[in-house]
Amino acid sequence: MMSDLHLMSIAGLSAGLRAGDFTSVELTRHFLQRIQQFDGELNAVLTLAEEQALEQAKAADERIRAGDGGPLTGIPLLHKDIFCTQGVRTTCGSRMLDNFISPYDATVVSRLKDAGVVMLGKTNMDEFAMGSSNETSFYGPVKNPWDRERVPGGSSGGSAAAVAARLAVAATGTDTGGSIRQPAALCGITGLKPTYGRVSRYGMIAFASSLDQAGPMTRSAEDAAHLLGAMAGFDERDSTSVDRPVDDYAGQLNQPLKGLKIGMVKEFFGEGLNPGMNASMQTAIDTLKTLGVEMREVSLPNSHYSVPAYYVVAPAECSSNLSRFDGVRFGHRCENPQDLEDLYKRSRAEGFGPEVKRRIMIGAYALSAGYYDAYYLKAQQVRQVIADDFRQAFAEVDILLGPASPETAFRLGEKSDDPVSMYLSDIYTIAVNLAGLPALSMPAPMVDELPAGLQLIGNYFEEGRLLALAHQLQQISDWHRQMPSGY
Ligand code: GLN
Repeated sequence: MMSDLHLMSIAGLSAGLRAGDFTSVELTRHFLQRIQQFDGELNAVLTLAEEQALEQAKAADERIRAGDGGPLTGIPLLHKDIFCTQGVRTTCGSRMLDNFISPYDATVVSRLKDAGVVMLGKTNMDEFAMGSSNETSFYGPVKNPWDRERVPGGSSGGSAAAVAARLAVAATGTDTGGSIRQPAALCGITGLKPTYGRVSRYGMIAFASSLDQAGPMTRSAEDAAHLLGAMAGFDERDSTSVDRPVDDYAGQLNQPLKGLKIGMVKEFFGEGLNPGMNASMQTAIDTLKTLGVEMREVSLPNSHYSVPAYYVVAPAECSSNLSRFDGVRFGHRCENPQDLEDLYKRSRAEGFGPEVKRRIMIGAYALSAGYYDAYYLKAQQVRQVIADDFRQAFAEVDILLGPASPETAFRLGEKSDDPVSMYLSDIYTIAVNLAGLPALSMPAPMVDELPAGLQLIGNYFEEGRLLALAHQLQQISDWHRQMPSGY
């Protein structure tokens, strides 16, 4: 029994902790041992917070003994290294922040701490969350546990690989253009990007502020519901956080769904979709139909503009956000600067990797005088057009469906020299960020022995219904129970 703890759900572990079958300290040791055993070959974890984790576990055990705490008390998880964690290094996958120790916790981290979770450590990620393969990390790529010659997806690739290999019960991630859903798809786990503003961005290192959103990366929709319940909510320290009560996601998982209208997004099933992936989606759809939902086809006619619009908006915002890394206030500082300009230039040249520099240059160009209207303003207008497409689709159906990624996990190095083909990995996820909608990816039938992700997109603040649909589908299928061998 003790040797199988990593196979249990959050609800199962929580019941076991309460019944005294095992303690949080034992559970934490179990996962720390798994990380030590397997992470050498995966490179999913950048920092292990062993001492702090055992302290948190001890405190959780006391809370449980006192009859206090909730469903997450004593549950060990990993945080993406984009969340500031007080006293534990936060690198954002960059040399720039190699030695950075935040003086405070991100709101996501402090909320989960209050709920009693145990933080095992921090996960590897693409540098400043820019990437779709985890290969832009200063700390080297993460390997996909299903096939270690393949990428885990990105940018939350460390979180996805760790959850898939059962190195933690769950992990946090962030999604600016697909970084929760695409790695979840490529690693065979469940990942949810909430509505923009549902989860606080305070203490989450900013990439593109109008798109960034944090969410749970778990093995099941049920686990995701528990995690989101603790992560979500208004935060006065984030001006874009929405002041609206948080739904009881876990309590709503079994809400009746009969008659729910689901729209297959026509444009997501066109050319460019791998045929095996298409077959996987069709099997998932057939299974979904047995839940009594109604399927129809809908169109998002402007979705092909989403990648170009995103690659103006995201770099523009990142060029502004990353200007704070100047070698003066925090982060990497070059040796022996000759003057202030030399300090700025060399600190940034040494601290940032090539993909981050590319984005900063594109962004600075798009925002420069004379080009602002042609690029940035135009991209913002396109964004409205894309949001309108969704508005019209949601007038007809309740939930939209499509693949999360056009293909399964690709090989390490396969797209590294071709930024455009890398950018196209997010062709089915980016429109959702531009519109600010919630969406999740969940495992669908495997394709050539690799995981595939089914994407469900909801209307604003419909996370509860998305999770319920995913949960009920997971009750009648076992795609999410498949595990990479050797772990
Ligand atoms: N892959 C996309 C990019 O490189 C999205 C990244 C993300 O969602 N953080 O920008």
